[in-house]
Amino acid sequence: MKPRDNNEHPPPSPRSPLSSALSILMLAAVLGLVWFAALPAEAFKGGTDPLRFTLIIIIALVAVATWGVLLAKAQNQRAGQIEEERDLFFRLSLDIFGVLSLSGHFERLNPALVNILGLKPENIVGMSLLDIVHAEDLGIARKGLTALANGRPSQFELRCRCGDGSYRWLNWSANPLLEESRIYAVAHDVTGRKASEDALRTESTFRKAMEDSVLTGLRAIDREGRIIYVNHAFCELVGYSAEELIGQKPPFPYWPDKEHAQNWYKLHLCLAGEAPTQGMELRVRRRNGKLLDVRLHISPLIDAHGIQTGWMTAMTDITEQGRARAELQAANDRITTVLEGLDAAVYVAEASSGTLLYTNRAYEAQARFAGETSHIGLPQPELGDYPVDPRKLNARDVPRELFDGELQHPATGQWFHLRERALRWVDGRVVRLAVATDVSALKRAEELNRAQEERLARTSRLITMGEMASTLAHELNQPLSAISNYSMGCVNRLKSGNYKHEDILGAMEKASAQAARAGNIVRRVRDFVRKSEPRRALVNIGQIAEEALGIAGIEARRLGARVSTNIPGDLPLVMADRIMVEQVLMNLIKNAAEAMQDLPLDERQIHLRARLTADAIEVSVSDHGCGVSPEHLENLFSPFFTTKQDGMGMGLNICRSIIEFHKGRLWVDANPAGGSIFTFTLPQEKNLGSEHDT
Ligand code: ADP
Repeated sequence: MKPRDNNEHPPPSPRSPLSSALSILMLAAVLGLVWFAALPAEAFKGGTDPLRFTLIIIIALVAVATWGVLLAKAQNQRAGQIEEERDLFFRLSLDIFGVLSLSGHFERLNPALVNILGLKPENIVGMSLLDIVHAEDLGIARKGLTALANGRPSQFELRCRCGDGSYRWLNWSANPLLEESRIYAVAHDVTGRKASEDALRTESTFRKAMEDSVLTGLRAIDREGRIIYVNHAFCELVGYSAEELIGQKPPFPYWPDKEHAQNWYKLHLCLAGEAPTQGMELRVRRRNGKLLDVRLHISPLIDAHGIQTGWMTAMTDITEQGRARAELQAANDRITTVLEGLDAAVYVAEASSGTLLYTNRAYEAQARFAGETSHIGLPQPELGDYPVDPRKLNARDVPRELFDGELQHPATGQWFHLRERALRWVDGRVVRLAVATDVSALKRAEELNRAQEERLARTSRLITMGEMASTLAHELNQPLSAISNYSMGCVNRLKSGNYKHEDILGAMEKASAQAARAGNIVRRVRDFVRKSEPRRALVNIGQIAEEALGIAGIEARRLGARVSTNIPGDLPLVMADRIMVEQVLMNLIKNAAEAMQDLPLDERQIHLRARLTADAIEVSVSDHGCGVSPEHLENLFSPFFTTKQDGMGMGLNICRSIIEFHKGRLWVDANPAGGSIFTFTLPQEKNLGSEHDT
């Protein structure tokens, strides 16, 4: 059914001919009555007064009857018109009008149903309201219908299903008429309002959630300073509830007692609109008495009409920030004090350009001393000494070590231990951080020490030779006697003239061999005691052992010990001072032989072994002697430790210095077969890096 236009009015009802005739008749009766009453008595000469009276009565009755008929007619017409208007109202209303049974079933519905729900009334009649109500709103509908069935008017809002399956919100106002067992209901479409209510609710929930989730305390005050709003964070900060704060006038309960004057001043600044834009710092006292440092940012509070009604304050707790800042400052002061107090020169230079970004006091003193103002005041590694070109480093490549070594200043001759690292500077730039320690004095002391050790080592060698002098003399005596005998034999033969050329030649050859043997011993002794700078070169450990045994073997034999060797021929060369290593071996062999003096002769066996380990050549000298008692172990390598009556106690100490000079280690183990094993290592050439001394 198409609803009629709102502007459509019912046509005016035409006046019926009957009512016109009745009106004329009544008018005539009234006129007749007037005329008749006005006639003079003489006009009824032939008649009597009763007749005249009867006529008047009749005319009056006719008039009354006519008027009555007209009145009834008019009332009828009015009733019809009202009915028609009600019908129009029913049909044209934009709201749904419905007549329902007390059980909630539709009996009649107006066409607004089509407009609102897109449903035809005839399709709905007979259905229950519950049939078109959204499942979630069934409870409301049932409650409303129960109230109506009990004779109480009811109003409820719920979603009703449209023809297309969607739902619209309807506000139902219904009145029951128990005598008719009917409910008269009007439903107004409130979907639009509901949507805006929902949007508003969502908006306000969102705002509330936002307000509650911000960590910044928000407080609004009116122009007199009275608190009109606080958010959750503000309450949390000061420890008072919103109810306690709203309506409060200054001084506020969270102002610290001793700081009222300052707080008044800052509040006045705020109310006068003169609060600094970067905010103000002040202190608040929480309800529990704890003091907080806060920062306030103030902005005008403008209402919906654009009128300023007060001030909005955003308050953040900066106690932690302040503490962190103070700690940072303290840490910075500490590190600056340390850096400034360091004897080492420290500087930071931009990796790409070399521009100095930081220098400490020691650096500046050094630069002044060197008479230069750039970091060339310190010796610089060559570009090739760096693992990468520091100028080309970028943020991805750092942090990394750049240099760690000793350098000599070309002008001042000072020695520095320089350690450089590439890292990210505070502003993200790649920089080189260098720490340069003047090690000149250390170097000098080291050199002195080394020279002293050298002297000591030589003295020790001389002593060893002194100790072995008689043995060596005896050893030399043999070839010399042999040479003498061969020579005398030759002289005698030559004198007698009875000789063969071959005999003389053979004897002279033997004498020469003996001389070579003696010469060898002398050379070894001379080499061994010669005064020379330590000189490291690539040497074969097998050859060193052979040379050492050339002298030590003589002493060992004198002491009744035999020396067996096990040195593979394919051992790599080591970078070492030949004489020094020989000295170590001689010392260990001599000690081993001396340790076995209480053993029967056939058990005095010394083993000299060498082997290759992962990164070094390991040499060991083992014996079956008395061994080292645990209480002696600790002092074994100390200077002047000896258990021998005529010992000096310097041998092992010097041996350890020599081995450590070669970056190796010397230690002693108990020999599982009895006795001791003294072992030392000499790092392989590749592990000595750039530290070759020549
Ligand atoms: P010295 O031989 O003059 O005593 P060393 O420094 O060479 O000086 O030796 C120190 C001490 O270490 C010796 O007195 C001895 O007690 C002990 N010692 C050295 N080598 C051995 C060894 N192979 N077996 C047992 N003890 C040893």
